[in-house]
Amino acid sequence: MSSSVLAADPAGTTTLIPHVVGGARVDGDGRTGPIFNPATGEQTGAVSLASADFVHEAARIAQAAQPAWRATGLGKRQQVMFRLREIVSQRAEELARVITAEHGKTVPDALGEVARGLENVEFCTSLMHHLKGDYSEQVAGGVDVHQVRQPIGVVACITPFNFPAMVPLWMVTTAIAAGNAVILKPSERDPSAAVWLAEAFAEAGLPAGILNVVHGDKEAVDAILDDPIIRAVSFVGSTPIAKYIYTRAAENGKRVQALGGAKNHMIVMPDADLDSAADAAISAGYGSAGERCMAVSVVVAVGGVADELVAKIAERIPAVTVGDGTQPGVEMGPLITRDALDRVTGFVAGAEGEGARVVVDGRALEVGGDGFFIGPSLVDDVAPGMRVYDEEIFGPVLSVVRVGTYDEAVALINSNRYANGTAVFTRDGKTARQFEFDIEVGMVGINVPIPVPVGAFSFGGWKDSLFGDTHMYGPEAFNFYTRRKVVTTRWPDPSESQISLGFPTH
Ligand code: NAD
Repeated sequence: MSSSVLAADPAGTTTLIPHVVGGARVDGDGRTGPIFNPATGEQTGAVSLASADFVHEAARIAQAAQPAWRATGLGKRQQVMFRLREIVSQRAEELARVITAEHGKTVPDALGEVARGLENVEFCTSLMHHLKGDYSEQVAGGVDVHQVRQPIGVVACITPFNFPAMVPLWMVTTAIAAGNAVILKPSERDPSAAVWLAEAFAEAGLPAGILNVVHGDKEAVDAILDDPIIRAVSFVGSTPIAKYIYTRAAENGKRVQALGGAKNHMIVMPDADLDSAADAAISAGYGSAGERCMAVSVVVAVGGVADELVAKIAERIPAVTVGDGTQPGVEMGPLITRDALDRVTGFVAGAEGEGARVVVDGRALEVGGDGFFIGPSLVDDVAPGMRVYDEEIFGPVLSVVRVGTYDEAVALINSNRYANGTAVFTRDGKTARQFEFDIEVGMVGINVPIPVPVGAFSFGGWKDSLFGDTHMYGPEAFNFYTRRKVVTTRWPDPSESQISLGFPTH
């Protein structure tokens, strides 16, 4: 596998990031979008943006390749997963640097993303187990029933910028393990990791045409949603687009799961260890510059803890080293684009006018150069009704909401439209158990600020954080990417009469 096209171009000349269709790199049919290094603000390349015709052709190629993959023995499919695991883990640093060059997150953080993606590859190495069917013997005299899981055919995976390797690995690995062919449409802002992964799959022995990477913007996505060959769509991204994908794909009769945005709250109870809670708020609020769907965005300080907690968070912020994510010792990189920087800056700038108090202003940070940097910000006295509370910021801004009681904290979270992740910090088991019972959120942490489920469970939020009913990766993903077929069998004695006009009751 050559990685020359995938690295940020050190000479600064424009590198075209190709599609991968039918096992080959393809330059596309004209339109391109710019790729930036967020740490320098420089354009480092361009990505082909597919037309609708290009998408439909890729779907036809996937459709032609899928029957042979479906017929491939499960043991052979498993071997592809084992080899993929070896390739990605041995070359994780290379993939991490591809991610950092376009996303901006630090290399150690990108390595963490690769490791979390690999969890699902490891889960899929047991695909023979996950695809097992059911059998009931003798449901009536001489009648048996069994159920098998069969692939859907061609499925599409549409992914966001913030985890350019992990989210594709969540989706495509399971879809392929289950016998489908895939059109992967990664974010057009950091598309190289998807190309790297497609070539890693090929090196692992996946036949051509089973994993196709088609880059693009709305035109490509709309073509996916309307293409009759594509039978299912997995999406992760912002809530407005998730809702759009869910609606249009469902109208076209497709199976669809669309994960949306988030506004994750972390409750700190009066009995909590405030040093641990402050450490957790820093790492979960500012890690990856807050561009994680499970990032903590709101700290809910219960009872009298707010003053001490805010002071502890504020005193830790200067120790967060912000800079180019390729440099050793840097803990927080830039935002993905200049637009994202302007947007996040706007939330901090507007907070005072809304009645909140900016305790630490990340706009004051100076990194130098034209990178898309803002430092960590801490905003106290935030309340619902303020933009800084109501909207998903997706940047390194922690808001603090002060409430009097546990019940007020729960009511606050349960009335939020988003319900991806949440956490409670407490030393009291009874409070923790009650929180787990009361809270209307899909993924819950007890003294764990980012409760991303391990690979043997599945990942998904509630309410406006998930449209559809199936979560990502793990067991639920094998349900999403397969159709169940139930077969009822009788081997009659040729001497028995088979004529009966009654409803079959066995
Ligand atoms: P996004 O919604 O802008 O883009 C996601 C995908 O949709 C991309 O592939 C993009 O090309 C495509 N897209 C964008 N605009 C479109 C349009 N108008 N029509 C059709 N397709 C379009 O999201 P993003 O900025 O790349 O990612 C950040 C968002 O993703 C945040 O809201 C974050 O919370 C969310 N996210 C959620 C989860 C989760 O698990 N719930 C995980 C990661 C990210």
